[in-house]
Amino acid sequence: MTTTAPRDEQLWSRCDGCASLLYRKRLRRNLDVCPECGSHARLDAPDRVAQLVDPDSFTPLPERAVRVDPIGFVDALPYPHRLSAARTGTGLDEAVVCGTARVGGHPVALAVMDFRFLGGSLGCAVGELITRTAERALADATPLVLVTASGGARMQEGALSLMQMATVSQAVAGLREAGLLTVSIITDPTYGGVAASFATNTDVVLAETGARLGFAGPRVIRQVTGATLPEGFQTAEFLLRHGQVDLVVPRHALRGRLTALLAAAESGRRVPVPRQEPAPRPAAGADAPAAAPGPARDAWETVRTARHPGRPTTLDYLETAFDGFVELHGDRLGADCPAIVGGVARLDGRPVMVIGHQKGHTTAELVARNFGMASPAGHRKALRLMRLAARLRLPVVTLVDTPGADPGVAAEQQGQAAAIAENILALSVLPTPVVAVVTGEGGSGGALALAVADRVLMLEHAVYSVISPEGCAAILWPDSSAAPQAARALRLTAADLCRLGVVDEVVPEPRPAAHGDPAGAAELLGRAVTANLAPLLAVPPATLVRRRRQRFRRFGAARSAGGNPPIDAIRNGARTEVAR
Ligand SMILES: [Zn+2]
Repeated sequence: MTTTAPRDEQLWSRCDGCASLLYRKRLRRNLDVCPECGSHARLDAPDRVAQLVDPDSFTPLPERAVRVDPIGFVDALPYPHRLSAARTGTGLDEAVVCGTARVGGHPVALAVMDFRFLGGSLGCAVGELITRTAERALADATPLVLVTASGGARMQEGALSLMQMATVSQAVAGLREAGLLTVSIITDPTYGGVAASFATNTDVVLAETGARLGFAGPRVIRQVTGATLPEGFQTAEFLLRHGQVDLVVPRHALRGRLTALLAAAESGRRVPVPRQEPAPRPAAGADAPAAAPGPARDAWETVRTARHPGRPTTLDYLETAFDGFVELHGDRLGADCPAIVGGVARLDGRPVMVIGHQKGHTTAELVARNFGMASPAGHRKALRLMRLAARLRLPVVTLVDTPGADPGVAAEQQGQAAAIAENILALSVLPTPVVAVVTGEGGSGGALALAVADRVLMLEHAVYSVISPEGCAAILWPDSSAAPQAARALRLTAADLCRLGVVDEVVPEPRPAAHGDPAGAAELLGRAVTANLAPLLAVPPATLVRRRRQRFRRFGAARSAGGNPPIDAIRNGARTEVAR
């Protein structure tokens, strides 16, 4: 917004987006977002703090910026003169305002950069103050929130300003080790050394609508490459599409989104990590009978039911069986796969990380979601969220519904096999409870990439298989029309897999199946996941991991001499017979 009069006398502002002349008070009430075009004006740090935190909750850190001029830098003006002018112009000591506050009632340590002060540049004082803020978060065991607005490192302080990228990142690493949430809120503009450190190496990266972020600025890129930059280059939407940020959030929703994330992180910390191993509890699959399956159906009919376009999807369950879903996007490496969705949500009041395949009900939705077939970027997004959940001690719930992983050329180039393999590995050592539910199609490795879990549940009319019946028929039968026979032979129904011990429990569906009563299906799913999760919460992480690995160890088949054991010997943990 362009204004001409000093601050107190401003009555009118002209919007930089649409050139409307706006009554200043009305604009302020709208958080400096133009009511005409939605353009988000830049905020200075004091205004940002006032908008973001609970009223009267902000306490500045006691530390004050020290005036430094480590290399005696002079351009047209000596650096100290520029520093003095910035101080006079902004009323701030430095380009960042740091303190502690509450957001939605949750305590945080907070550092907010101010672009007015020498372009929000990162010098030795700014780096030190943000580091002290992170150290304060560590000492108080609270999350750290960073609001960035910066042109990059402060060149007037030479290589010492470059070092600040490492200094602050180390402080972020300390919080990561301690399992404390770090969130950056990227505002316009965030570039250079700030973009390439603490703006993007936090657990969650939110971009305010209208923000731009990049390592190199557009002018530099044009100069170096001579290229014409695409429309919307480096905008928040561009960053979301390319997997660089979790969410694009309009200013009026920032507090709410932040509050939801802080609530999830706080809940993880409230759960005491048990040190004593509780008395061993029989595996539910062992004595407790699985939910009574309905009348036996033909396996091929079940395959068709599992693929029914009306069957609830992961996003449907997130709307119905869960509350307060905050979706997190992106693999941070270049893409956001639409076939996998994930984020924090509440189940029966408890925050959990939910990750699932997303299909759709219409052809357009299915195409947009690649039919629920995840790319390597999707698997890497899932991996990022699993690891985040473990750090924050949130249980993981996965909803599996995929015909299989994306079999395309690009997926192969980007390492599909290794991406799946890495997820299987990560899940087998993840130090937090994991409950997987096969809700529709559990297709091969793409399904297993989300299903190495402490408890594996399966909806009554879901299927889970090493290959699709069509694929199996094409290979082992004369032609793919033998798919119904292949479906029967593969033992891919919930009842079969429960008998084989691959699945722990069958979750009943309303009659005739989930697509006929999505709300009823959601209720049954929510109840089953809650019941299966509850006993896992009391198990120490090391025990949890050991048992999970035992669970998957028991599927092996060998004995010291002679042939294979009967299938009964390897189900329900009856490995002793095999081991002998
Ligand atoms: Zn406007």
